[in-house]
Amino acid sequence: MTSYFSYQQDQLCVETMPLAELAKRFGTPCYVYSQVALADGYREFAEAFKSREHLICYAVKANPSLAILNLFARLGAGFDIVSGGELQRVLAAGGAANKVVFSGVGKTVAEMKLALEAEILCFNVESAAELERLNEVAGSLGKIAPISLRVNPNVDAKTHPYISTGLKKNKFGVAYDEARALYRRAAAMPHIRVTGMDCHIGSQLTEVSPFVAAAEKVLALADQLAEDGIVLEHLDLGGGLGIRYKDETPPSVAEYAEALLGALAGRREKLIVEPGRRLVGNAGVLLTTIEYLKQGEEKSFALVDAAMNDLMRPALYDAYHEILPVIRFEPSPQSSPASGGGGERERQLLNYEVVGPVCETGDFIGHDRELAVAAGDVLAVMSAGAYGMSMSSNYNTRPRAAEVLVREGDAHLIRERETIRSLFANERVV
Ligand SMILES: *Cc1c(COP(=O)(O)O)cnc(C)c1O
Repeated sequence: MTSYFSYQQDQLCVETMPLAELAKRFGTPCYVYSQVALADGYREFAEAFKSREHLICYAVKANPSLAILNLFARLGAGFDIVSGGELQRVLAAGGAANKVVFSGVGKTVAEMKLALEAEILCFNVESAAELERLNEVAGSLGKIAPISLRVNPNVDAKTHPYISTGLKKNKFGVAYDEARALYRRAAAMPHIRVTGMDCHIGSQLTEVSPFVAAAEKVLALADQLAEDGIVLEHLDLGGGLGIRYKDETPPSVAEYAEALLGALAGRREKLIVEPGRRLVGNAGVLLTTIEYLKQGEEKSFALVDAAMNDLMRPALYDAYHEILPVIRFEPSPQSSPASGGGGERERQLLNYEVVGPVCETGDFIGHDRELAVAAGDVLAVMSAGAYGMSMSSNYNTRPRAAEVLVREGDAHLIRERETIRSLFANERVV
């Protein structure tokens, strides 16, 4: 639990506002974010890197809410995007195109055109074929595309295999040993301008050593390029700094920055970093109401109104999120087994599987949680600000949740709950 979400007496609050009130006002499931937490997170990065020229490009996919993008834009952030859609979001939110870097292995012609017209800061190119295409598209528009190659440093990020991206077997980036030759080709292309080098080795890293190892490989390659007469303006070391969900001990932002700044000591290139999760993960929670308590043959279930379509991380990565009641009650005394437990307003301390209503066994929010709860109680799924709403879907024709931003003691609805009608508005019966 972060200091932005804490119990005051027995009420779990965001800043000083009881989450129970927000659940009542906006309904559940509902994502709630703290603006102070978001802004403090950004300022922590800016402070940690202030000793050298840098740009913090927030990774939009972690949470692309317009209100959040707008906040970061006002704080001076740039953005790391992975689609044309994300570029349009950034622009709609007031972000500056000339602070946008465009990552991703499958950029389409249409996305390239959009980004060239907007005059983004840099394309992080991930293959020779993409480089060829970008050169052609830029030529057709009479533009010059600024590029980095995303190099794959073959460094083990020591994180979940699904969120590890810097190994030879991963689909991301250009093989380290081929990058120098590809840079030479890029430098000779008429509609390409080489401006930087980029890497991103994975997500939810809880140690600094893989970042340093990747940085050292990037620097060694940059030195080789200098011998070829290719001088880089910036080095983009990606994102990936982890957060605490349970008992992880990720480095502080200051420790992370110190390690990167140490690796870059004496160099003149501008530094770019692309944090996503670290800026938003602990700044948000998902509120959900218990619909039913159910005693299975082997397990007790708390059936909640949020599901894998709202928060996919548990189903996808077996990820852990802390689950807390928004009002803390004393557990009821143990009653006779005949009463079945969980009777009206009785709150025995039991070990629950917290699960959603979606028709998949993988639809769980948390396993083995000790809770003293009753049907109707609201739970907060903690650390849900990153890859929560952004990975949500409409599976089971479930409208996506509402989103609320708490700012200076006021709660603002920043995204309305979807209506069922809107879910099939684009469909036709033939
Ligand atoms: C997802 C992603 C990030 C952000 O990763 P976090 O772990 O959320 O910090 C940064 N850069 C690229 C290229 C990404 O794909």
